[in-house]
Amino acid sequence: MGTFLADSPLCRLCATESEGGGLTIFDDSEEKASLAILINKYLPIKVVDDGRLPVCICERCHVGVAATVDLIDRMVEGQQRLRSLLQVREVEEQ
Ligand SMILES: [Zn+2]
Repeated sequence: MGTFLADSPLCRLCATESEGGGLTIFDDSEEKASLAILINKYLPIKVVDDGRLPVCICERCHVGVAATVDLIDRMVEGQQRLRSLLQVREVEEQ
């Protein structure tokens, strides 16, 4: 049995009521990374399935998480690319 929040339609991230029930973030049945793993990796909050807090997120937050994952991955790749370009130039100049 969960708490009143665990059973509520409130979004685990923004605490607004998610229309249509929202998407569960602790779905281990899918082969792709669960939303909880992505949230814990990319966002400054940690979510655990402790039965006390909501287990779904709203569509708006789902879109936001996906965009954040995409942005951060792209930026990290960009930094690597800039460093390798710099290295190539520095080797050429030697
Ligand atoms: Zn939300």
